[in-house]
Amino acid sequence: MSGYMMVIAPCLACRRTFASNPTYVPSLNNQPVCRNCMELANEKRKEKGMEPHFIHPLAYEPEEA
Ligand SMILES: [Zn+2]
Repeated sequence: MSGYMMVIAPCLACRRTFASNPTYVPSLNNQPVCRNCMELANEKRKEKGMEPHFIHPLAYEPEEA
């Protein structure tokens, strides 16, 4: 794990355990949200005419320290 910054944690919404980059992953109350749930949430936001949440391209990638 040395050289990489990432966390393995359950998704706030679906409880699936996934790896994410703590610097960029979208989170609520310190609990990360997985890509699947973020994309679902964005689809719903778009349907309502709302601005989708920004998902950083590195949010689900390990970061080289
Ligand atoms: Zn999820």
